[in-house]
Amino acid sequence: MKKIVILGSTGSIGVNALDIVRRLGRSWQVLGLSAQNNTDRLIEQALEFKPSLLCVSQPESAKKLLGSLKPLNGSLRVLTGPEGLEELAAHPQADLVLSAVVGSVGLKPLVTAVKKGKTIALANKEALIVAGDLIMKLAKRHRATLLPVDSEHSAIFQCIGSEPKKHIRRIIITASGGPFYKRQASLESVTAEEALAHPTWKMGKKITVDSATLMNKGLEVIEAHHLFGVPYDQIDIVIHPQSIVHSLVEFTDGAVLAQLSHPDMRLPIQYALTYPERLACPIKTLDLKEVGKLEFYPPDFNRFPCLALALAAGRKGGTMPTVLSAANEVAVGLFLNGRISFTDIPAIGEEVMRRHRKPSANPGLDEILAADAWARGQAQTLEKVTA
Ligand code: MG
Repeated sequence: MKKIVILGSTGSIGVNALDIVRRLGRSWQVLGLSAQNNTDRLIEQALEFKPSLLCVSQPESAKKLLGSLKPLNGSLRVLTGPEGLEELAAHPQADLVLSAVVGSVGLKPLVTAVKKGKTIALANKEALIVAGDLIMKLAKRHRATLLPVDSEHSAIFQCIGSEPKKHIRRIIITASGGPFYKRQASLESVTAEEALAHPTWKMGKKITVDSATLMNKGLEVIEAHHLFGVPYDQIDIVIHPQSIVHSLVEFTDGAVLAQLSHPDMRLPIQYALTYPERLACPIKTLDLKEVGKLEFYPPDFNRFPCLALALAAGRKGGTMPTVLSAANEVAVGLFLNGRISFTDIPAIGEEVMRRHRKPSANPGLDEILAADAWARGQAQTLEKVTA
């Protein structure tokens, strides 16, 4: 019996994970689920999977849940807020914690799970971006295992297999390029609807906009740096519009291994859930004769300034990635609400980074949270400057 807790069960990753649990059936037990706003979906999930713990962000939602889940009330507890999420992440019976929340709200629950020495399937990349050094240090100390859910990092993880780190010469992360890679016209007038139409992947809104700005790819370089302990000089990005090759690893002898499949998040999610087991997954079988061609191009740093910003933040380290990630979260929200233009997203990220004159080199959790809050405030005030 594998016992799982899912933080963020109503988003794209969470829903897919529960599909996998439903399909893999009886050997799985869902202990806890959480949602930020989508209480209706959380109620449906709770009725089906019968967890004993739920967590929602607002106390009013907790009342609604308890009212709608009368049949489970005897065995059900409903937690609220960030403390509730931490309690869920620390569930003493959990064999696996899937963190699929969006944004740096996932940081404290991740730290809690790591300190409990849990095995964590990590989809919440922002937590690792804002506090990568701290999390990896704690993971080592508490013998926690982080399993990547992000498709590129799952690919890298699969390619590395049992090779020792000294055999890795280079990591090559692929990027679809997003919906605007071939667009000739200026990106200034891009609408939220256009940015949300990703050519190859179906994902949540925040990551889809990040994929359109290529911020996502820059953040993924930082994520790979922490997860695999590889210096920035040894991580490359290549644009690959077909999204068939999910990333590659070059070894000391020049051999390059890649992981290929149709772009479908069910595969990396399932691999993180069942690792080290490989089980059947209902994704389309890859037929290279049908795919025909696989193309690769260098990334365009001029048209997609978010890429260079993220790499600069990663190299600077300390609280700089924290600040960029937080400012970007705010900027993406403002863009989705029609308050700023698409090209204001990197402008806000750049300006908040510029204002962060003294990034702390080795920040603890409190310092990271303070930098995160500061950057959010700065990004909010910049809305008025750009408008
Ligand atoms: Mg990815």
